[in-house]
Amino acid sequence: MTNVIDGNAVADGIRADLEDCVDTLGDAGVTPGLATVLVGDDPASETYVSMKQRDCEEIGMNGIHVELDGDAAPDELYDTIADLNDDSSVHGYLVQDPVPDQIDYREVIRRISPAKDVDGFHPENVGRLVAGDARFKPCTPHGVQKLLDAADVDPEGKDVTIVGRSRIVGKPLANLLVQKTDGGNATVTVCHSRTEDLADKTRRADIVVAAVGAPELVDGSMLSDDTTVIDVGVNRVDADTEKGYELVGDVEFDSAKEKASAITPVPGGVGPMTRAMLLYNTVKAASQQEDVDVSL
Ligand code: NDP
Repeated sequence: MTNVIDGNAVADGIRADLEDCVDTLGDAGVTPGLATVLVGDDPASETYVSMKQRDCEEIGMNGIHVELDGDAAPDELYDTIADLNDDSSVHGYLVQDPVPDQIDYREVIRRISPAKDVDGFHPENVGRLVAGDARFKPCTPHGVQKLLDAADVDPEGKDVTIVGRSRIVGKPLANLLVQKTDGGNATVTVCHSRTEDLADKTRRADIVVAAVGAPELVDGSMLSDDTTVIDVGVNRVDADTEKGYELVGDVEFDSAKEKASAITPVPGGVGPMTRAMLLYNTVKAASQQEDVDVSL
């Protein structure tokens, strides 16, 4: 029987633990605060930030939302960032990507205080992650680690093939999985658009993580028996539904499930974990900045 890993249930468990941490912080007079900054009115980004705000409220954290016009000058955003860096009620924040063309996202990331960079994208935090001394693990890779743990799949000694080498998923996940710590100690292959014979790399793996953005790229024929499959991809494809589309992953679920010992669905796999790990990082940031011990 294939274990279909329920990301919503795992995320619920993490949120419940975080609520206890929020209570502990509350006893010390601290309410963790997460700010989201949205520049422009991209509908998908609006949905993402409103979900993040709702997540905050649900576990008793402060959600602060800042919106700037789509034609805002870079300096206007930099002023907002400086204010958030100085605001002691904001323990963590993020600027929702993508930003409009006039703004250089890399410069935005560099201006965020590393101590409040709960996405874990600031160069200092990337460096610390690579050095094995992560301040904040980036949310999606951390969520993948937690899902493996929840499914009782220990990466130690396993061959892991990650398809995708992005800054936010593939590369940080590869770094986490090779660390000499619990949840790491794997042997990792990272694939990308120039990789030759992708199926050979995925067939050799005990664990396959797909983070590409290509609907159903990885199918059952590319997997060996008893592989653990984590599907990060979220792709809209035209479908005869009320909305006119449906969400599919980077993995062809039905054929992959035939081969897999464990697999995440889309939706309901990695997505809820990414949101939960953002709350986790914010609670961690509050604990660090306010010097209140919480058991994370
Ligand atoms: P990016 O577009 O930044 O990176 C995609 C990666 O896939 C690149 O490294 C690219 O290679 C590689 N790639 C593209 N085509 C192929 C191919 N045919 N074979 C092998 N590798 C290929 O994407 P992200 O990492 O940001 O996101 C990936 C997917 O995950 C998306 O669907 C996104 O929506 C989803 N996502 C989901 C999250 C969640 O919480 N569930 C969170 C973040 C992302 P190259 O580097 O050579 O271009």
